Amino acid sequence: MKKFKELPIGKKLLYLSLATRISVLLLISFFAAMNIFLNYKSGYNSARLVSLSSGPLAGGLYWMMDGFLSLFGNSATILQSSGGMTWSIRIFGFPFTDPVAAMSFFIKNRSFETGFFLGLAVPVTLAAVFGRVFCSYICPASLLFFFTSRIRRLIEPYFFLPRISLSSGFAWGMLFGGLLTAYFFGHGIWTLILPYFAMGQVIFHGIAFGTISAVMLSIIFYALLDLFLGQQFTCRYVCPTGRLLGFIGKRAFVSVRRDPASCLPKCNSCAEVCPMGVSPRMDETVNCTLCGECMVICPGNCLKPGQRDTTKNISDRILKELITFKQKTQNTLKETAEEK
Ligand code: SF4
Ligand code: SF4
Ligand code: SF4
Repeated sequence: MKKFKELPIGKKLLYLSLATRISVLLLISFFAAMNIFLNYKSGYNSARLVSLSSGPLAGGLYWMMDGFLSLFGNSATILQSSGGMTWSIRIFGFPFTDPVAAMSFFIKNRSFETGFFLGLAVPVTLAAVFGRVFCSYICPASLLFFFTSRIRRLIEPYFFLPRISLSSGFAWGMLFGGLLTAYFFGHGIWTLILPYFAMGQVIFHGIAFGTISAVMLSIIFYALLDLFLGQQFTCRYVCPTGRLLGFIGKRAFVSVRRDPASCLPKCNSCAEVCPMGVSPRMDETVNCTLCGECMVICPGNCLKPGQRDTTKNISDRILKELITFKQKTQNTLKETAEEK
């Protein structure tokens, strides 16, 4: 088995994105478990009492968590400085805020909570530098869509599965519709619109309260959309956060880069495999999540992440325009000569 550092870059990115997404799911589960721990801490403050009241398993888990957190200071204080849900999380006091949450909060409450808005720095900077990487490396719902798209690929040869496409305006419509609804009826609407919010809530309810949240239905709905309407349909056309991050990262500093010299002329594998409908073959980068799938499949081994070369793009475009202009002029001259 190859070591991680010996793997080709595409596989490295793919495995890394799987690992970070699993870690995020574990973190959300940990935060949910923290709630139970805090209740025990304020109620009993002793592993023996927890054991007597809720059984040896609960007592053992309490003992382990208390012991682990005590390494960093007072366990209750540490936990109170970390926590939250998918749209606003604090880790050791450092806030991370979902841009959609910030917009919704600002429009509804018309107030400016500094910590909450400071939390925007990480996701916005990440999108500006690396593009839509949130979607492949952080989003708690994206693992579900990752596996749904693989199931779709497996069954596609045997069943007719349509490939529906929508305009990018649809996701913007979801954003404005969501903001309007949140303004009049509260932020709860986002649990239905944002798949990762719904996923966070389902995990939280399952662990903290032992119940299945009703928003599980919205997750099932989005998974079915992906399965029957198109690969990563929800992420490509419906989710407003994905659209917003794609917009912020439109001119991201780092993106997928192609070496034209090694690119095979009749190949289109990268565009066919891309779950986000991006075409590296055409040097498209908008909406790229740096998932690595195109790099894994590329037979010319000519794709890798790198600094977006804006000068080259502009010069390429000028060159293309000049060639088109030359061809048009030649055609016009030819037609004029034929008429004479
Ligand atoms: S588009 Fe939305 S649901 Fe899809 S991965 Fe990105 S943030 Fe998550
Ligand atoms: S172009 Fe598509 S397949 Fe390639 S890294 Fe970007 S999102 Fe993934
Ligand atoms: S998969 Fe590689 S070789 Fe094929 S078109 Fe894309 S960049 Fe070129």
